[in-house]
Amino acid sequence: TPGIRPLVAGNWKMNGTEASLGEIHGIRNGFMSGLDAEVDALLCLPATLITRAASIFSGSPVAVGGQDCHAKASGAHTGDIAAEMLHDAGARYVIVGHSERRTDHGEKDSDVHGKAEAAWRGGLTAIICVGETDAERRANATPDVLTRQIGGSLPRAAVASTTVIAYEPVWAIGTGLTPTAEDVKRAHAHLRAELVRLIGEEGNKVRILYGGSVKPSNAVELLGVENVDGALVGGASLKASDFLGIAEAY
Ligand code: PEP
Repeated sequence: TPGIRPLVAGNWKMNGTEASLGEIHGIRNGFMSGLDAEVDALLCLPATLITRAASIFSGSPVAVGGQDCHAKASGAHTGDIAAEMLHDAGARYVIVGHSERRTDHGEKDSDVHGKAEAAWRGGLTAIICVGETDAERRANATPDVLTRQIGGSLPRAAVASTTVIAYEPVWAIGTGLTPTAEDVKRAHAHLRAELVRLIGEEGNKVRILYGGSVKPSNAVELLGVENVDGALVGGASLKASDFLGIAEAY
């Protein structure tokens, strides 16, 4: 989108230990040697790696993010993590409402709304994920699903500097399947229109990422689509060479 700097974001999901730090160094080195001119870069990591990655990426253009946060700042919530804690560890972004959270943990749009506000309160940019399932796609319900999800998940105080939307068709995540460029264009145009309806002109500045089986070989096509302002990359972000290959699409 004209005037929007693209964001290439990785999502390591529940992957990564000390042994993966080499890939993080590789990503850092790639972005240090010129790639940063065209894109912003981000790696969303398991909480256990955030501090180590933030130190490796320090002085580089790559930011670190978490993959979920609790709606509250602290308290009796065993196993959960607050946005404030992610920020303290060195994160500047957090994914909220990823389809795996919606499926595995029953998160609803109203939960995602609370987590996005929590992200801002903790000083983080929220990456709010939306996307239809295969059954919804087959029922031609994609626009309705996106309208419902963004309407329920996006706090109306959203501004472009602290809010990113990720369109992730559930059936395309981790499957190797991708929508056609025409389908992506239609979904992103729909989300753009919804953003403007919900938050006004500011909605034209919010980044809308595409996510779902992005890899170096399809990045040029998918990231070249109108209203696609970057990528959220799962599997292919685990290897520095693949992640850098995607960023090179810009
Ligand atoms: C994701 O889960 O955010 C994702 C896009 O995964 P993958 O790239 O592996 O499909």
